[in-house]
Amino acid sequence: MAFSRIGPSDSRSATELAHYRARLHAWLDVNHEELAPRYPPPGTLDDHIAQMQRVKSILFDAGWMQFGWPERSGGRGGPPMLRTELGAALAARDLTDPGLFSLIEVLAPTLIEFARPELAGEVVPRLLSGAELWCQGFSEPHSGSDLASLRCRAVPNGDARTASTWVINGQKVWTSLAQYSDRCVLLTRTGLADSRHRGITAFFVDMKTPGISVRPLEMINGEREFAEVFFDNVVVPADRMLGQLNGGWSVAMSILPYERSSCFWQRIAYLYRRLQRLVDVAPQDDRTAEVVGDAFLKLHALRARSRATQHRLAETGTLGAETSIDKLLVATTEQATYDAVRRLLTGMVEMDDSVAGEVWRSEYLYSRAATIYGGTAEVQRNIIARRLLGLGSDE
Ligand SMILES: Cc1cc2nc3c(=O)[nH]c(=O)nc-3n(C[C@H](O)[C@H](O)[C@H](O)COP(=O)(O)OP(=O)(O)OC[C@H]3O[C@@H](n4cnc5c(N)ncnc54)[C@H](O)[C@@H]3O)c2cc1C
Repeated sequence: MAFSRIGPSDSRSATELAHYRARLHAWLDVNHEELAPRYPPPGTLDDHIAQMQRVKSILFDAGWMQFGWPERSGGRGGPPMLRTELGAALAARDLTDPGLFSLIEVLAPTLIEFARPELAGEVVPRLLSGAELWCQGFSEPHSGSDLASLRCRAVPNGDARTASTWVINGQKVWTSLAQYSDRCVLLTRTGLADSRHRGITAFFVDMKTPGISVRPLEMINGEREFAEVFFDNVVVPADRMLGQLNGGWSVAMSILPYERSSCFWQRIAYLYRRLQRLVDVAPQDDRTAEVVGDAFLKLHALRARSRATQHRLAETGTLGAETSIDKLLVATTEQATYDAVRRLLTGMVEMDDSVAGEVWRSEYLYSRAATIYGGTAEVQRNIIARRLLGLGSDE
């Protein structure tokens, strides 16, 4: 099937955004059959990943995946809101898993900011087109919330300033999609053990490099979505360093605000759909009205906050500690939505073996992780208290 190509449009005005949205939905309507999942629901993680990469490839060929990304990295320009609109449209139509799709939003902006321009120009289009997947190697068995204590070590072959290669040894854990990934944005210790955030360097590592082994871990919902990753004398070219030597903390700090905010726009679109589904199948009574009404208000507040964040990103080009508010809101709203499901569909989450029951159960269980991944709710509250409200330091 031939896809109609869309013309260039990088306007920042609301009218043009509405125009973009209308054209996008018209195109999705026309190509719905081609884009629709090919597996029986609910599908496995393998199915969801294959579907996402297939959809990305079709969208890339038609020119949609490139909107909102800078031209120097293979994009077509325009504000980042264009890409979150795309993610939301896909989530609203059940064409891709919103959590998986949003990973683009977490890692690509950082590659564009910190990688050599030639490297970003080569690999970002591969991520957008579904030719590759990337993962984020931050957490370690003893370094999660206290990320600055990480120990996975990179040592230069020779002098640190002139070495052509680095050798990496250590372990990461909870690395989402590591077993499917072609590359990893990896944080390593390059300074002294107690140098904390001043002695960390980021690398963009090919996952097929000899010495890397991946051991998938099963989550509470039965999916093997994340993994342990082991590095045993892994040789990485020096030109794969992201940012400055010992400047990896800046790389991490640039990723986290995206991971805590702009990537959630499609998640929000999906939560609206699930709440609507709950309304469709729950008893039509006052209790449903009250429970759903409460979840809806939370969701609406989250959407308003997220919309404001999108506009701030478009205007200033950066995000910071204030995104901890978005992360806290998305985590508590997601859990409130699935708590509503559990309260209103009696026994469904616990015992129902139908496809619908399986999906509600899996999503309910996954929602428990929302207050952990991307930084726990307690850590977000600390950031809000310390850095936004000025209530003292952690030191
Ligand atoms: C589904 C999922 C996907 C993930 N994907 C990735 C990934 O792709 N890449 C990656 O690098 N990591 C990933 N993670 C890991 C995640 O970032 C960490 O789990 C998280 O940062 C918490 O670290 P931890 O598990 O070591 O818990 P810990 O840091 O040991 O925390 C344990 C408990 O102590 C609390 N706590 C810790 N410090 C403080 C403090 N200062 N004040 C108050 N309370 C505190 C925490 O809130 C938590 O309740 C993922 C996690 C999940 C659940």
